[in-house]
Amino acid sequence: MMRKNEFTFIFDSNSENESLARTVIAAFIARLDPTLEELADVKTAVSEAVTNAIIHGYEGADGKITIHSRMEDNTVWIEISDKGVGISDIDKAMEPLYTTKPEMERSGMGFAFMEAFMDDLNVISEEGKGTTVKMRKTIYSAINMS
Ligand code: ATP
Ligand code: MG
Repeated sequence: MMRKNEFTFIFDSNSENESLARTVIAAFIARLDPTLEELADVKTAVSEAVTNAIIHGYEGADGKITIHSRMEDNTVWIEISDKGVGISDIDKAMEPLYTTKPEMERSGMGFAFMEAFMDDLNVISEEGKGTTVKMRKTIYSAINMS
């Protein structure tokens, strides 16, 4: 059986919506019957990207965050975008332990976690325009379901 599905979810940039975003992506991938570990990986990656949009992209100000996700068979693609300040040096931002907000006790590990927990990570950003984080993961527990 071929599984294909997609959704777009737009929400306000406030920290209460981090758990909403985690819940929505968890519900979306539930049909792939992920292991608890796979589920935790995807939820963590999404919440790291959403937290980044809130605290770095919009720096606490109002804005909209979009999650667009699609699945085909047992692979999920997730895009999280904001129209915030953008990132001037993406390679540097993605280095483990690099943070522009050490005073907020950020550890600079968000992108490193996304990279570790997902199969692929791509960041597109333009200063003053915003940021899109693209991730992909194959849910292996679903292979035997088809
Ligand atoms: P942590 O995630 O460990 O709390 P952090 O958010 O600083 O710390 P990363 O998530 O790895 O670490 O992000 C690294 C840096 O990339 C951030 O400090 C910030 O400068 C920049 N950044 C990440 N996401 C965005 C975004 N959506 N908009 C603007 N800048 C961003
Ligand atoms: Mg972060």
